[in-house]
Amino acid sequence: MMIRHMSSSCLQGHVRKAQALVSLGRTEEALREYLVCLSIEPDCRLAQTEAHKLLGDLLAPVTDQVPEHISDYSSLLSFRAHIKNSINTPSQIFSPSLWLSVSSLASTPPAPEMQEDERKPEVRRPDHCFLLKRKWSSTDENTEEGGQERRDDHKRAKSEPAEATDPLSSAVSDVLDPKDLECSLCMRLFYEPVATPCGHTFCLRCLERCLDHNPKCPLCKEELSEYLVQRQFCKTVLMENLISKYLPSELIERQRIHQDEMAEFSNLNKNVPIFVCTMAFPTVPCPLHIFEPCYRLMIRRCMETGTKCFGMCLEDNLKGFADYGCLLEIRDVKFFSDGRSVADTIGRRRFKVIQHSERDGYNTADIEYLEDVKVEGVAQRELQSLHDTVYDLALVWVNSLKTEQKERIEGHFGPMPQKDSELQDSPNGPSWCWWLLAVLPLEGRAQLPFLAITSLKERLSGIRKVLLFMAHSKHR
Ligand SMILES: [Zn+2]
Ligand SMILES: [Zn+2]
Repeated sequence: MMIRHMSSSCLQGHVRKAQALVSLGRTEEALREYLVCLSIEPDCRLAQTEAHKLLGDLLAPVTDQVPEHISDYSSLLSFRAHIKNSINTPSQIFSPSLWLSVSSLASTPPAPEMQEDERKPEVRRPDHCFLLKRKWSSTDENTEEGGQERRDDHKRAKSEPAEATDPLSSAVSDVLDPKDLECSLCMRLFYEPVATPCGHTFCLRCLERCLDHNPKCPLCKEELSEYLVQRQFCKTVLMENLISKYLPSELIERQRIHQDEMAEFSNLNKNVPIFVCTMAFPTVPCPLHIFEPCYRLMIRRCMETGTKCFGMCLEDNLKGFADYGCLLEIRDVKFFSDGRSVADTIGRRRFKVIQHSERDGYNTADIEYLEDVKVEGVAQRELQSLHDTVYDLALVWVNSLKTEQKERIEGHFGPMPQKDSELQDSPNGPSWCWWLLAVLPLEGRAQLPFLAITSLKERLSGIRKVLLFMAHSKHR
């Protein structure tokens, strides 16, 4: 009797303690107290129901909140296990679906090394994408941010008629998300994918842009100097085949984007790339050493589009670059192993800048080409005689140069051009004028106004003034 009374008050103490712990949210400790109660009094109804409830609470979060995901997670786990097992079996025959899964699980890029302004604003969580994708494909729910877009992507991938009769194809398109075949640099479907020696895949152009800044893998930072030296960016044909087989419509869209970009880069009136460096003139050669990352990109684009042209402008403290410039055409470009290059260019046409802008780190401009205004009759005859006089003056000056000076000039700009047979044939006027302006000891500021002049008479008068001034100062 005594013992029973003692255990009853003791039981009450544990019950009260357990209730206090419940109200504090300390579920595990409360459960322990109720279990103590039951060890003292196994028939205690209160302790029985409370312990059962707490036990349920402790185990519930998984089952209560995400019951529909259980099968999903387990399938994911078994899928991972499957991949692991497959990798451990060297004799495993290559399976695209397996390979894709591995690539998507492995693609957890740290921030790719690209300049902030070059990066797309879209933020991606590649380490989650596989998990999320599985979730969407099986539960069809759409609670995650950006879920709609991803789900649409998946639907598009699934809706592809990619040989639905082939069980492998349909299995692949079930697990294949276009996001798995995205370049981690441009966040778009791989275009002309290349793999680095460290095993990472990027679009050719994206990788080149990264290597302009730093010869390291943008993902794992492995040194790629040797790779860069060889400059053998081999396309991964397997990846291309996978994309064209399983994501044909995405590929068409990606090709369209590429073509649109190329068309944009090819426009020689709007957003023309501008090299801000030196004074360039029509018909005059202009050799350039290209080492800055933004200009490496610019030169590559000029070559890829096939225009082989860009504008050359002098620097301007206020506007960034001068309002007048000359379109240069690349005749030849030699790439060095470290990514630098030397471009042999020649001046083609003069232009006036209408609008200054920028693209991917280099300057661009909307431009308008300039042509000489033609004259006839008396004005034409006067022009011819002025031209002949100034040409003779120019010859006198050139012949007055010291041999080594002349050799240096001719080595750089070539010999002085002959007179044109027809004075007004070229919209640029006679080429010897431009050659002379390039070699005369004039500063850029003094040379620049000549680009803007569209009257041959005015240009010849200007040149005559310079030649007379030089002859005068020489004889003094
Ligand atoms: Zn890319
Ligand atoms: Zn790498």
